[in-house]
Amino acid sequence: MTEGSVRKLVIVGGGTAGWITAAAFARLLGQRLEIELVESEAIGTVGVGEATIPQIIRLNTILGIDEHDFLRRTSGTFKLGIEFVDWGSLGSRYLHTFGDTGLNLAGVAFHHYWRRSMAGGAQSSLWDFSLHQAAADQARFGKLDRVGNTAMAGLAYAYHFDASRYALYLRDYSEQRGVTRTEGIVESIERDGTSGDITAISLKGGKRVAGDFFIDCTGFRALLLGQELGVGYDDWSRWLPCDRALAVPSERLPTIVPYTRATAKTAGWQWRIPLQHRTGNGHVYSSGFISDEAAADTLLAGLDTKALDDPRPIRFTTGRRQAFWSHNCVALGLASGFLEPLESTSIHLIQSHVSRLIQLFPRSAHAEVERAEYNRRCTAEFEQIRDFLILHYHQTAREDSEFWRYCKNMDVPDSLTHKLALFAASGRVGRDVDDLFRDASWVQVMLGQGIVPADYDPMADQIEPAQLSEFLANLKTLIARSVAGLPSHEDYLRQHCAADPASLAA
Ligand SMILES: Cc1cc2nc3c(=O)[nH]c(=O)nc-3n(C[C@H](O)[C@H](O)[C@H](O)COP(=O)(O)OP(=O)(O)OC[C@H]3O[C@@H](n4cnc5c(N)ncnc54)[C@H](O)[C@@H]3O)c2cc1C
Repeated sequence: MTEGSVRKLVIVGGGTAGWITAAAFARLLGQRLEIELVESEAIGTVGVGEATIPQIIRLNTILGIDEHDFLRRTSGTFKLGIEFVDWGSLGSRYLHTFGDTGLNLAGVAFHHYWRRSMAGGAQSSLWDFSLHQAAADQARFGKLDRVGNTAMAGLAYAYHFDASRYALYLRDYSEQRGVTRTEGIVESIERDGTSGDITAISLKGGKRVAGDFFIDCTGFRALLLGQELGVGYDDWSRWLPCDRALAVPSERLPTIVPYTRATAKTAGWQWRIPLQHRTGNGHVYSSGFISDEAAADTLLAGLDTKALDDPRPIRFTTGRRQAFWSHNCVALGLASGFLEPLESTSIHLIQSHVSRLIQLFPRSAHAEVERAEYNRRCTAEFEQIRDFLILHYHQTAREDSEFWRYCKNMDVPDSLTHKLALFAASGRVGRDVDDLFRDASWVQVMLGQGIVPADYDPMADQIEPAQLSEFLANLKTLIARSVAGLPSHEDYLRQHCAADPASLAA
């Protein structure tokens, strides 16, 4: 054993971040490390975070989680994308799907062919060629790898689940793999007088938990990295001005649709997440543009089913920690920064940061190079997602409230300005190679928000007009046939992953 080697990992916080971290470390480094997680039931968790993106399937695969068991125990449902209502303009609606639209041909992205057909007078929407849109419209879901015998990819999906059941599920998983859970409130933190590294935390009542490496999963408090180590915070609210949310559960939807809905409001937006036993709802808004009372009224008026509780307030500042790893401490989850839940990216960020940390995990706590690399890559990831979120607010025709006028006219990062200009001119996507969001996502959201590219890729002119019409007509037929063969989402859930009634009552 080398001097200063990392043998004991202490995770502080037992929300989604704490338990994802515990599960991943137990699975991948559990033989080498002793892992202890400290959490406080009295403090509790943020209690939201119920919609995900397809990358979560990778996490489940690494952990060896059975999908149907997981959905049964978290009362989960499937998700094909997010429906954005009233964002580009009042009355507009589009689905940001997890899949491609149409089929790329001769190395040219499908949307260029679609744009060419529009230039020739066709009256279709890009989403007429989306398998995901057709399945979502008919509330169908099933496992589909390909569309017929074509090269067209099948259904890409993610999950909705009950946040508190998810943390419990991962807690079970982690404890079975040797993670020790300690209940208690952290009162003070001990540091090494020379290096400044954290050496132990002390809990109310006197218990002391020592460790070699600490993960701060204490939520917005950022008790270790923020409060103790003094790492500052970059505030991004000039671009993403929402700073509050009200969350409320309501009765389950009459039909459980396989998508999240995000409806733009006068000073923010409202989410609707369908679960098997209830619906998750929330209003994310900017306190500079609407009062808390009016925000609560908006939320309750926008519910599709009866509220089951009073709205619960949550406050946040969008932005990120100036470093994600300092000394022998890494912050994960809300302690590391916050990007609002418009594209359900926070749980993904936990997963992606944990896997990066494990890849770079040091033998000794003195790990300047690994730390620098980790901070560099996490920073880039946060900024890429930030730009994608700003797109939804900024690229709008809405001018019906002070909030939307602000968003429409605000200055945005140059990185985003460039992408918007490129797409508007030629339909091309200036995506960064390591961007979480694929070209298909940028295309759907830029079109959905109202950009109509002035031109298309000239390579799309390679085929004859008659071939183009036939190609487009065939795609529609194939999609319709594939979707007609899928079960309803509810039937699929009933058959494979009906929530366990006993766990629902608990
Ligand atoms: C309004 C809103 C909606 C969201 N929706 C989504 C979504 O749809 N999809 C998505 O991916 N993400 C979403 N998120 C983000 C998601 O909720 C979080 O990323 C996720 O829940 C992780 O939270 P956390 O574990 O970091 O923090 P928390 O859940 O706040 O957990 C913090 C933990 O630290 C413990 N703790 C704190 N202080 C102490 C102390 N002194 N002593 C001991 N323990 C302590 C607490 O007890 C708790 O266990 C949303 C967030 C918000 C605010």
